[in-house]
Amino acid sequence: MITGAAKVAGVVGWPVKHSLSPLIHNAWIEALGLDAVYVPFAVPPERFMDFVQGLTLGAVVGLNVTLPHKESAYAASDRWTDQADRASAVNLLSFEADGGVAGDNTDGQGLLAALMQGGWTPQSEPVLVLGAGGAARGAVAALLDGGAAEVRVAARRLEAAEALVSFFRFDAPAFGIAQLDQALDGVTAVINATSAGLNGVGELPPMDAAPPGAVFMDMVYSPLHTKFLRDAAARGRPTVDGLAMLIGQARPSFEAFFGVEAPPPEVVDVRALCLRALGETD
Ligand code: NDP
Repeated sequence: MITGAAKVAGVVGWPVKHSLSPLIHNAWIEALGLDAVYVPFAVPPERFMDFVQGLTLGAVVGLNVTLPHKESAYAASDRWTDQADRASAVNLLSFEADGGVAGDNTDGQGLLAALMQGGWTPQSEPVLVLGAGGAARGAVAALLDGGAAEVRVAARRLEAAEALVSFFRFDAPAFGIAQLDQALDGVTAVINATSAGLNGVGELPPMDAAPPGAVFMDMVYSPLHTKFLRDAAARGRPTVDGLAMLIGQARPSFEAFFGVEAPPPEVVDVRALCLRALGETD
């Protein structure tokens, strides 16, 4: 039930109508019987700063932030967690009683939780991140924070991979797609943090040089069964899809908004709800 005292949270993006976050959070709210609601906000980039400024008056407790606003949300924050600072991107804004805006990044927690579902542990290395955009930067930050010592980066533009490595000032090799076999040598996990495969557009080269047991994870979840994951599964490799990460980042966000833990999958199976919304099956 939503009363006049309900806590309001939401997700801001442009566009936002495809976001699964309202489905996930409202299912958890309902399962716990909270007086709360989670709503989508479609805000164009040029209005984002004004939008956030207006919310410092206290209308909502917090927001998840999706494309294309994660860097702007970082700039709009007054203080940041280490995770947000490392990634220079914010996917969780909390509006504080004093009018302050706290920026956090739970994408990294989502990534690590998803990888661990695939049997990977931070002690297993090296790990290869494909891509050099915002998601790749967040993935590298999370892996380093999670304790992975050897994180490699490969991108179709070598200079972009090198720029990502120098952003973190860590000692890791950067690879162009032409050197993929070298990048894949001995890896324990390969993470697709490019947008290749999103809506079936774009394709990554074959990953045959990866060892047989390497965990393959795709951040893209539309479609869920990307060619990257289908190829890996066809070779008998463990795979993890982008929905696992999405749900993994939503859990700490929910706790930040409403002060209670999200219920476990046995109580409410949000993955099944998302699969139905996507028209997918496991
Ligand atoms: P960006 O646009 O910032 O970066 C995209 C990256 O993908 C760039 O490095 C780009 O290379 C590369 N790329 C695009 N197409 C290809 C291709 N065909 N081959 C090789 N590289 C390619 O996007 P983000 O980093 O923000 O997001 C990347 C993906 O991660 C998106 O699909 C997004 O939906 C997903 N994501 C999923 C999350 C989840 O919870 N599951 C959370 C966050 C993101 P170049 O620079 O050369 O163009």
